[in-house]
Amino acid sequence: MSGREPTLDPADWEEFRGLARRMVDDMIDHLSSLPEQPAWQPPPERLRDSFSEPAPVEGVGEERVYRAFLQDILPYPNGNLHPRFYGWVQGNGTPLGMMADMLAAGMNPHMAGFNQAPALVEEEVLRWMVELMGFPAGAGGLLTGGGSVANMIGLAVARNDRAGFDVRAEGLQGGGPRLTLYASSETHGWVFKAAELLGLGRGACRPVPVGGDYRMDLAALAAMVAEDRTQGWRPICVVGNAGTVNTGATDDLAGIARFCRDEGLWFHVDGAYGALARWHPELRPIVAGLDEADSVAFDLHKWVYLPFTVACLLVRDDRTLGDSFASKAHYLATMERGVSAGGMRFADKSIELTREFKALKVWMNLKAYGVGAFAELIRRNVEQARYLAELVDREPALERLAPVPLNIVCFRYRSGGEGQDDRWNRVNEEVLLRLQESGAAVPSSTNLGGRFAIRCCFVNHRTRMADVERLVEAVVATGEAVAAELGARRASAAGN
Ligand SMILES: *Cc1c(COP(=O)(O)O)cnc(C)c1O
Repeated sequence: MSGREPTLDPADWEEFRGLARRMVDDMIDHLSSLPEQPAWQPPPERLRDSFSEPAPVEGVGEERVYRAFLQDILPYPNGNLHPRFYGWVQGNGTPLGMMADMLAAGMNPHMAGFNQAPALVEEEVLRWMVELMGFPAGAGGLLTGGGSVANMIGLAVARNDRAGFDVRAEGLQGGGPRLTLYASSETHGWVFKAAELLGLGRGACRPVPVGGDYRMDLAALAAMVAEDRTQGWRPICVVGNAGTVNTGATDDLAGIARFCRDEGLWFHVDGAYGALARWHPELRPIVAGLDEADSVAFDLHKWVYLPFTVACLLVRDDRTLGDSFASKAHYLATMERGVSAGGMRFADKSIELTREFKALKVWMNLKAYGVGAFAELIRRNVEQARYLAELVDREPALERLAPVPLNIVCFRYRSGGEGQDDRWNRVNEEVLLRLQESGAAVPSSTNLGGRFAIRCCFVNHRTRMADVERLVEAVVATGEAVAAELGARRASAAGN
């Protein structure tokens, strides 16, 4: 045999070590200089060409591909790590989380289960989550890719547990009663995707109206459930929100819990980011009743600041999760000893078989900094939202468009008192785009009762109070400029 047999390990490990060290150095430079970088910059047109090559048959080598990353990819993210990014609900990641992901990928264990230390790490992390969310002994769960998946798995368990027949065996094609579920009209879009994928159909997902505080109207919920029962339908589940995407509203979770107990319904909470309010004693009352849910889904890659992706589903009775997904296959047989001892215990609770070692970044960050540090950052984000609301209320050129119960602020520029919502909608959309395109800040938007709102969500451990002040100044200055331009354009159009 002559020469080296092919492998993807480097031919020269020392040379690779040099490249790997540069990668770490470059990323640390990138992270430590974030505040001096623009919050976002549009990818230049030339990038389209860089990314339209045919599949590479011959390799260019590690060095060149890394240079392409530095030049064409690293400078053009969507901005979510930046201290002045307030858009949607996007996490930022921690430097330790970045390194933990590298360690996890380097170790690359198969997280279906198995007799291995990484599985013990995930189990320990899940026990911490049970404890921190106030769930009882016997509760359990799973780490997932995101809140959408965690919510969907929770809804699958709810469906299987409350359908009244064996959904796993019979599916929904046996002519049984129509199964319905209830969620406020402010609920995130995952609920429709999940209802569709679970075979319930989006029509089964009944939107419950909200009050002026954007919280579910419980009297309307009760009336809808009663009405649906008279139709011969079978209500199975109510989804409560801990922190809605639009305004940060939290439903009356204790009230929904009581209603579900009385009606024999499964109570699931979408706590994607809001459930984390429970980690700080001052904020805990906002999500009172969360610990009474049958299941709760929340992200660790939003308000626990960890790198994408990692979320968690907890169920009150861990067995219901296994009952929904466990399957027996000969090639996955469990032995008393050896590598397969302990079984495929995560795969048996999930739609996924091969899973990555997401638990490591959770475990390392919580152990390194302590839950208290995360709770304090969460509280500070709420303080930043309250501060922004205060500055908006004090500034005559700005108008707040919704209450601020948690960490989201919706407002708009509106100065002079003249003009219909149409005009202010155009002005504020332009203000938003200019803020983003100038790299000054990245809020996102929503529409509240026909009004275009600039929407800021605080889930960033890098944001400072001074950033909040700069944001207000930028919105006012940009608003003045845009309103004057649009006014002038209108005047000249009228003059023609
Ligand atoms: C982000 C979010 C989701 C979806 O979670 P992903 O991690 O993006 O899949 C669901 N509900 C709410 C309230 C959210 O903020």
